[in-house]
Amino acid sequence: MGALSHREYGPWAGFRAAFISAGRIAGVEQDDTAGPYQTCHDRPCLSACPAHALSLNGYDVPRCLAYLEETPGNNCLAGCRARFSCPYGTAFRQSRDQASFHMRAFTGWNDDT
Ligand code: SF4
Repeated sequence: MGALSHREYGPWAGFRAAFISAGRIAGVEQDDTAGPYQTCHDRPCLSACPAHALSLNGYDVPRCLAYLEETPGNNCLAGCRARFSCPYGTAFRQSRDQASFHMRAFTGWNDDT
């Protein structure tokens, strides 16, 4: 299992919605390529996350959110530290402004709250 990451694009995907289809969708190919997580020796994402929300079992979203809420001044709101530590897909990294925008959308916070 582990973190969702692509060998070329790294961990720079986010999902805002999902839908189910009984059949295949034309033009959408399944990618069975193994991600880098199983063979990544250093796994810097595990030590970069101050909440230990990433593990070999995957990403613990409630644990991440609890850390963000309970730790004022944490610098994850400038971008997930685990994602930024990933050595894969660095050419596709979000800017800090983009990452901050998505983190605030993820938490449901914005500058007005
Ligand atoms: S946002 Fe922070 S607490 Fe959440 S997974 Fe990323 S590094 Fe861990």
